[in-house]
Amino acid sequence: MTPNRTTRILILGGGFGGVYTALTLEKLLKRELRRGEIEIGLVSRDNYLTFQPMLPEVVSGSIGILDTIAPIRRLCPRTNLYTRVIEAIDLDRRRVTLAAGVGSRQLELECDHLVIALGNATSFAGQAGLVEHALPFKYLGDALALRNHAIHALEEADIEREPTCRTGLLTFVVAGGGFSGVEAVAELNDFVRSAARSFRNIGPEEIRVVLLHAGGLILPELPKSLAEFAQKLLMKRGVEVRLNTRLAGATAEAALLSAGERIETRTLVSTVPSGPNPVVALLACPKDKGRIVTNCHLEVPGYSRVWAVGDCALIMDARTGDPSPPTAQHAIREGRCAAENVAASLRGTAKRAFAFTALGKMGSLGHRSAVAEVFGLKLSGFLAWWLWRTVYLMKLPGLDRKIRVAVDWTLDLLLPSDIVQLKTDRAVSIRREHFEAGQTIFQEGDHGDWLYLIETGEVEVSKRVPGQGEVALRRLGPGDCFGEIALLGNHVRTASTRSLTSAHVLAIDREACDALLSTLPPLRDFFGRLLEERMGMRPESNSVAGVSNGV
Ligand SMILES: Cc1cc2nc3c(=O)[nH]c(=O)nc-3n(C[C@H](O)[C@H](O)[C@H](O)COP(=O)(O)OP(=O)(O)OC[C@H]3O[C@@H](n4cnc5c(N)ncnc54)[C@H](O)[C@@H]3O)c2cc1C
Repeated sequence: MTPNRTTRILILGGGFGGVYTALTLEKLLKRELRRGEIEIGLVSRDNYLTFQPMLPEVVSGSIGILDTIAPIRRLCPRTNLYTRVIEAIDLDRRRVTLAAGVGSRQLELECDHLVIALGNATSFAGQAGLVEHALPFKYLGDALALRNHAIHALEEADIEREPTCRTGLLTFVVAGGGFSGVEAVAELNDFVRSAARSFRNIGPEEIRVVLLHAGGLILPELPKSLAEFAQKLLMKRGVEVRLNTRLAGATAEAALLSAGERIETRTLVSTVPSGPNPVVALLACPKDKGRIVTNCHLEVPGYSRVWAVGDCALIMDARTGDPSPPTAQHAIREGRCAAENVAASLRGTAKRAFAFTALGKMGSLGHRSAVAEVFGLKLSGFLAWWLWRTVYLMKLPGLDRKIRVAVDWTLDLLLPSDIVQLKTDRAVSIRREHFEAGQTIFQEGDHGDWLYLIETGEVEVSKRVPGQGEVALRRLGPGDCFGEIALLGNHVRTASTRSLTSAHVLAIDREACDALLSTLPPLRDFFGRLLEERMGMRPESNSVAGVSNGV
C-alpha cells in the first residue's frame, strides 16, 4: 500500500465471483477500509446478485419473484457500487469505461487492482432465428419472461380454435439437457400441467413438453445411474426427451431440429450455448475458448495487478491440474481466493494457489424430487430433493431471503400454482423476425397491423385470382418493404406473402408507423408513391405483368 494514498480495488461483475471477492476483501481489509487507506468498488449492470440455481423455481412460482436476488449494497456495505454497464476495459492502465447513465457522460474508473468477474453470456450466434424467437435462461428477467410467456400461451390456447396454432401454443420446448435445461424443463412441465387445470378449454392430453439434448443421456455431469434416474422420472411426468437431437434454428411458430424436423411451438427456451461476455471478448489477453487464462494465483499473466475469476476465467486447479468448471461453487471459492491474494500482494505476504474440490452436484427435478451426488454418495428422489432445498436455503445470501424462501416453499406445498400474468413490458413497436424458406408470413384476409422491412432474403407476394388460383405478384428482396397497403389503408390483407429463402425482417407496428409518418413528411411521400405503384396506378419494376395489387 502506498502511504498517504488510497489504494483502489475495482471488481467488475456482481455475480458470485465478484460479490464474494468484495465480501472477502471487506473482511480481510476491515482496518484499512476504516482508515480510508483502501477503497473497494464494484461495477455491475444490476444492483443485485442473482442466485441462479433457484431461477427455475421462479418459472413455477414456487418462490417469490424477488427471492432469488439479493441487493449488493446490503451484502457488501463497505463497497462502492457502480450500477452501470461496462463498455471497455484497458488492461494495461487498469482503466474501465462505464456507459453513460442518466446524463450523457461516460464514466472512467482507474484502479490499483482490477478483478474481472463478468461471467459468460447467452450466445445464439450461428443458429438462425434464435435471437428473434428463443427465450434465454440466465437472468431473473429471463425466468420471469418465460413464466409470463407460458401463461400467455395457455390464455391464447384456451380461446384458439385453429388446430396448428393451438398445437404450437400448447407445445413447450427446452433445448439443453445440462443442469439448467433439465431444471427449467422440470419446473416448466410441472407448472403448465398444473396451471392448465384452471383453463376450461385445455385438456391435459393436449400439453406437450419437449427436452432436446445433443447427447445420448441427459445430465452428462452426473454419474450414469443418476442421469438415467432423472431421465426416466422426467419421461414419467410427461416430458418428451429427444436425445441426440440439436436445435438448429427457430421461427415464431416452430423449433427447427438438426435432422430437418420441425416441432410446432410458440415457446422455445434455449439454455445452450453460452459464449464469452462481449466485453471480455474484446480483451487482448490470452484466452481459451473465450475464457481469460489465469495463473494459479488467479492473476492474468502479462498484466500487472489484474485478476480474473468465475465463468469468464479459465483457472487450472493447483491440486488436480484440471480446469475449474463454470459453477457457482467454484466462482465463490475463486472470488475468495482472489481477495486473499489481492490482500496478500498489498501486504507483501505469500499468495495462495487456487484448489477446490466440488462438494457435490445436485439437480432439482420438480415435484419434490431431485438427484444429487454429495461426497461421492449418490442420492435420488425425495431425500435428494430435501438435501437440495436445505443446501440452497443455507447458501442463499442474507437471512431475510432465507426466511422468505422457506415461507414460500411451505406455502407452495399447500396452495395451488399462481397463474397471474404480469404484463410489465411496454408495447413492442419494432421487432426482428426470422422466417424459413417457404414459410407464410401473412395471408390474404388477415388483419394488417404490421409493416415489414426485409433485411436479408427474398419474399414473394401473391394473390388468389378467380379461375387462376394463387398468382405471384412480385418478388421482394433486401431493402424492400411489404404490408403497407393493409396497414395504411386500415383494412385486411389484400394479398399473401411467403418467404422464398431464409429471411430476416424488421416488423414495425401500426402505432410506430403512424408516429413516423406523421412526423417525417419525406417518408409519407415515399409511402404515398409506393401505394400508387402497388395499387396499380403506376408501374412497379419488380411486379409480375398482368396482375397488380398490393399487400
Ligand atoms: C439457470 C442456471 C442454473 C444454475 N444452477 C447452478 C447450480 O445449481 N449450481 C452451481 O454451482 N452453478 C449453477 N449455475 C452456474 C452458476 O450460476 C454460474 O457458474 C455462476 O453464476 C458464475 O458466477 P460469475 O460471477 O462468474 O458470473 P455471473 O453470475 O454470470 O455474473 C456476472 C456478472 O457480471 C455482470 N456483467 C456482465 N457483463 C456486464 C457489463 N458489460 N457491464 C456490467 N455488468 C456486467 C452481470 O450483470 C453479473 O452481475 C447455474 C446457472 C444458470 C444460468
